[in-house]
Amino acid sequence: CGIIGITGRSPAAPRMMEALKRLEYRGYDSAGIATFAPGLDRRRAVGKLSALDAVLKEAPLAGTTGIGHTRWATHGRPTTDNAHPHMAPMDAPKVAVVHNGIIENFRPLKDDLIAHGARFAGETDTEVIAALIAGELGAGQDPAAAFTAAVDQLDGAFALAVLIDGADDTLFAARRGSPLVIGITDGEHFVGSDALALAGFAERLVYLEEGDSAILTPDGYTVFAADGSPVARPESPAMDGG
Ligand code: GLU
Repeated sequence: CGIIGITGRSPAAPRMMEALKRLEYRGYDSAGIATFAPGLDRRRAVGKLSALDAVLKEAPLAGTTGIGHTRWATHGRPTTDNAHPHMAPMDAPKVAVVHNGIIENFRPLKDDLIAHGARFAGETDTEVIAALIAGELGAGQDPAAAFTAAVDQLDGAFALAVLIDGADDTLFAARRGSPLVIGITDGEHFVGSDALALAGFAERLVYLEEGDSAILTPDGYTVFAADGSPVARPESPAMDGG
């Protein structure tokens, strides 16, 4: 339902929580965040963001690159196992995914992944995306190629923010049918499901267009059009000035 991603140089978790609080108005049943801490790690909780806050107080999450999500369940009950971020492979995670929307073809994709040995912790359509990317990595693809190859297999409506092992300061993002905004400031880049998520963080915004994907690091970002070619999208000043 709500997405935040940060790649920068200062702790990501507190600011992702701040952004998720600004996204509370969209409604949600559970929430979670993941970072490279330095290995991929996550914290999730059902219910209010105060529940996730309490989990983080017990077990803080380090790291300067991360993704966060407030979930409004469409596939799978509102449980901790179904809360985002979803990670794969299950025993040694290399991928973390947050997703808004619905993957229409998740069932055949999931059946195929299971037939090839993948294991799943929950019932969401989203977990299939993490498993697809992990499968592409396992087949020898680099992180960017694995991300693209997985997204190309998805039908439905989605906004995605993804962390991939081996690209530890990088956010991968894609939008099809659900909005996604890039935020830009000196030495940090963000993705959010709307401009409000990035309020106070970003000096400039770039609204991704239908079919766009993007790769972001602390120092820069590249947007790719649906055909995979790099494309310049207009930057606009953030209303609050960053
Ligand atoms: N379809 C996904 C799920 O049920 C994402 C829902 C959302 O947009 O929050 O987990």
